[in-house]
Amino acid sequence: MLLIENLHVSVADKPILKGIDLEIKAGEIHAIMGPNGSGKSTLSHVLSGKSGYEITQGSITYQGQDLTDMAPEIRAREGIFLAFQYPVEIPGVSNIYLLKAALNSVRKHHGQPEVDAMDFLTLVKHKVKMLEMDEKFLYRAVNEGFSGGEKKRNEILQMAILEPKLCILDETDSGLDIDALKVVADGVNSLRSENRAFVMITHYQRLLDYIKPDFVHVLAHGQIVKSGGPELALELEEKGYSWVETSQPGVA
Ligand code: ADP
Ligand code: MG
Ligand code: MG
Repeated sequence: MLLIENLHVSVADKPILKGIDLEIKAGEIHAIMGPNGSGKSTLSHVLSGKSGYEITQGSITYQGQDLTDMAPEIRAREGIFLAFQYPVEIPGVSNIYLLKAALNSVRKHHGQPEVDAMDFLTLVKHKVKMLEMDEKFLYRAVNEGFSGGEKKRNEILQMAILEPKLCILDETDSGLDIDALKVVADGVNSLRSENRAFVMITHYQRLLDYIKPDFVHVLAHGQIVKSGGPELALELEEKGYSWVETSQPGVA
């Protein structure tokens, strides 16, 4: 599904990612962990096509296509979804309007008709219930005045409606209390499928108690310094990031 090879990315002429290699297959869950400032959000932003990130070396291939040739909105319609670390507020646009417009743009891209209004309402109410959200959130402006936890839940709601192929969750766990974390994890687990892959970016191990990854990668100073199975997350919890950061000689 996704192949990242020797990816180097600069922001404002400052090198941030310094040679990332990562292969993600359909059905897999990859966790990317790492200290603050290691480049986790930069990686997620580059995948979503956010502007301001310059790829100076390497390649990203999504479903056999060069991802860098695809505009951000095409990436989204082709099934790449990024749940932001800091979800944006969109005053004046209701949540339900955005959800419907986004779903219809994906359907149009795949030659499908617009979703039936009643079917959509049934779908969206079902997902809202699953995420234990109040239906009132559907009619409020997107993320406006939402608490940190409500914004994160709302990101998962968008994901549940759009049913993307590659789901990237950037620190969706931060700002969530333990009950909200479980609800969000249930939402993610319900979307697990052999046709879908997840990249879970997290600073802490606790999300991975609820969403079991197939692979764990540690990003430090713009490089993946260690990869392993779920046990690596537990080891990190115990020993801290300094353990892997210093276990790699030559990493600046
Ligand atoms: P993480 O998500 O792992 O905490 P980020 O990807 O947000 O890390 O940031 C990695 C590094 O890139 C940090 O040193 C950060 O200051 C820097 N950085 C990110 N965005 C910008 C920007 N727009 N301009 C300059 N530096 C940036
Ligand atoms: Mg950070
Ligand atoms: Mg970040």
